Amino acid sequence: MKCIIVTGGVLSGLGKGITSSSIGCVLRARGVNVTAMKIDPYLNSDAGTLNPFEHGEVFVLDDGGEADLDLGNYERFMDASLTSDHVMTTGKVYGNVIEKERDGHFLGKTVQIIPHITNEIKSMISNVGIKSGAEVVIVELGGTVGDIESMPFLEAMRQMHSEMGHENILFVHTTLVPTLGSLKEQKTKPTQHSVRELRGLGIQPDVIVARCERPLEDSARKKIALFCDVPLEAVVSAPDAKSIYQVPIFLDEQGLPDYLMKRMNINVPKDGLKEWKKFLNKVMNPKHEVKIALVGKYMDQYDSYMSHYEALAHAGAELDTKVTFIRLEAEDIEKDNPKKFLDDADGVLIPGGFGSRGAEGKIEAIKHARMNKVPFLGVCLGFQLATVEFSRNVLQMHDANSTEFDSHTSHPVIDILPEQKNVTRMGATMRLGAQAIVIEKGSKAEKMYGSNEISERHRHRYEVNPHYIDRIQESGLKYTGRSPDGKRMEIFELDGHPFFMGSQFHPEFKSRPQKPAHMHFGLVKAALEFSKKRKM
Ligand code: GLN
Repeated sequence: MKCIIVTGGVLSGLGKGITSSSIGCVLRARGVNVTAMKIDPYLNSDAGTLNPFEHGEVFVLDDGGEADLDLGNYERFMDASLTSDHVMTTGKVYGNVIEKERDGHFLGKTVQIIPHITNEIKSMISNVGIKSGAEVVIVELGGTVGDIESMPFLEAMRQMHSEMGHENILFVHTTLVPTLGSLKEQKTKPTQHSVRELRGLGIQPDVIVARCERPLEDSARKKIALFCDVPLEAVVSAPDAKSIYQVPIFLDEQGLPDYLMKRMNINVPKDGLKEWKKFLNKVMNPKHEVKIALVGKYMDQYDSYMSHYEALAHAGAELDTKVTFIRLEAEDIEKDNPKKFLDDADGVLIPGGFGSRGAEGKIEAIKHARMNKVPFLGVCLGFQLATVEFSRNVLQMHDANSTEFDSHTSHPVIDILPEQKNVTRMGATMRLGAQAIVIEKGSKAEKMYGSNEISERHRHRYEVNPHYIDRIQESGLKYTGRSPDGKRMEIFELDGHPFFMGSQFHPEFKSRPQKPAHMHFGLVKAALEFSKKRKM
């Protein structure tokens, strides 16, 4: 197994995740068997209990792992399906070591950061290599070099360098090269300082990826190469991009995959970015445009609903369509006429969520989409609230609600899953991960998926109350996707509406370039038809 370690310097938010994903993408395109993992140096065991305001969306894996959103980028850029093993947090590492100590594993020894924590970190990394069978494991270290939290991880990586041998481990350091003054001079000093910091910890970077407004000038590249002691060909520009999907092409054009493979002595000559370029060409040159309104709670942060935006972009690319987003705060809709916010929308998407804030605004938006035949997709909470809206306004059960928001409602159309009733702990206790869904023959969902049996990822505690299903279906909202035992409602579609669908699961997590999520594809396709009709 060989390792590429990606660290970050100067400041956070430099796109380390996109850099790591893009390295994975270009190596994979060359035929290298590569995988990626993320280290988050916080104490939480996983991202499941984090507010999306803090770290963006929680990305759900097939095995039910609740992960940092970078795992989503790895999966999308490398067309991979990863597991919880690919996420390491300080909490997980310490948890493992403390567990081993209680088991008597280190009997008689003082348990310490070095060597016990660092050994655990190394063994968790090599475990990923062994289990995945990958030749190269990309390890992205979250945070910025110099953070107290990152120290044990960097120390483990320093040890890995001497244990694995130079040829088998490589350090990529991402930094910022700001431009200053009216001359827009590119400043390399912050990069020099952060490399010095890294060297102080015993790590010499092999590659510098410099985030910059425009590609690095020759003089800046030469300066970085000289002061940071890296070959000129290993100083790579990562200029601002219109689309994140351009980054692999940028890296490829600068010869990074060749350098990486030469440095690690990997020899699989194959240029496979052809497919990626085809996809990117569609992203960059759309023929049509649709506007999709996303109604949620954390709208000023792109990261909070990242997988939805990406899934819609994937769907758009397949349909030669640019999807622009109308990002709406559900609470604002509560204060005014929904038409005011949604008049321009060719489609409406209500994503997943927790807690009552904004729920009524989302219900208003759903009503608007249903009544005005605007294409609509409800995901997880969006699926549940569409059931509430339909029960209230079509079945005339005026106080219908989810018991998540009103435990005294006389019509609990959404209720807690039976197996969740006695769950008291919050971490990793929801109905999580990939579950099978059986789709009804002849349904719209069947046409969209082209199959009667699918598997999609879940993350919820509540569900459609089986008690109300017959009544709801009789009025036209049909549950055409169910769990194999028929008990859990998974997909609905509305009779007499061009596209009004919802899923209890999260289709956005499995969307990939050139393989868009079926539900999102359906929404964008319907939105395109809606917008064409509107223009006629
Ligand atoms: N809060 C709802 C539940 O727990 C929906 C969850 C979600 O949208 N991910 O079932």
